[in-house]
Amino acid sequence: VKSVRILQSGLHRGEESIVFGNDRSGMVVFSGCHLSCSFCYTPETSRDFIGKDFSLEAFSSLLESLVEQGARNISLISPSHVWNFIEPALQQFKHTHGGYYPLILKVSGFESPAQIRRFARVADVFVPDFKVWDESVATAVALPKHYGRVAQAALKAIDESHRAPTWEGTVLRRGTVVRHLLMPDYAPDSCDVVKAAWQIGYHGLMNFMTCFIEPGKGLKRAPAHQVDALVGQARSLGIVPMVDGQLRQAG
Ligand code: SF4
Repeated sequence: VKSVRILQSGLHRGEESIVFGNDRSGMVVFSGCHLSCSFCYTPETSRDFIGKDFSLEAFSSLLESLVEQGARNISLISPSHVWNFIEPALQQFKHTHGGYYPLILKVSGFESPAQIRRFARVADVFVPDFKVWDESVATAVALPKHYGRVAQAALKAIDESHRAPTWEGTVLRRGTVVRHLLMPDYAPDSCDVVKAAWQIGYHGLMNFMTCFIEPGKGLKRAPAHQVDALVGQARSLGIVPMVDGQLRQAG
């Protein structure tokens, strides 16, 4: 492999405002994906593989140019399938800048513990999806049948290396934010996802995303009672709930 395909890059506001630098995040969205979820919100990359090809040197220069433009962190979206290629550039970036610009990895949850341990060598903040738990739900949304078990093992591996978060005041410099998209048709499964995270001793942040774009049907928003119930469940299990990127305070 001589290049990596990138859909887009630039300065954006990150979803979770508590993550250091997310007010001016240097985002890189890789083209392609190792999954093919039926609810994919970026089919132009996962299915159509649109983008521009970058050599390793050009990718390194892209990271540097994001910093020069004023990025306060580097956020890599869907890097798993291109990791072997980009890893040397990321190591070089860390070597050059130390820990000053946190490296955020937005991953699908469908990664092996061994792969997570490789990511952990350079990652500051992990943002793994935990999309579904039950095999029948996974199959219904075109995920691999055993997605839930794989995501649970991936989260365990992430938690082993990034359990103790590093806060700078109220911003997270190092740690984990699990993302879970609420799909209104599968509400009970969301409860099972929270339980599966708790089962492996996860007590970190979990961001519930309440807007779901259903292919062909448009935007669906999870009802408030479902969101509140999930937030309550997470809190009772010692998980720190967030809703659409914001911490949900108790009370
Ligand atoms: S993991 Fe994300 S990018 Fe990949 S197919 Fe699923 S929704 Fe799309």
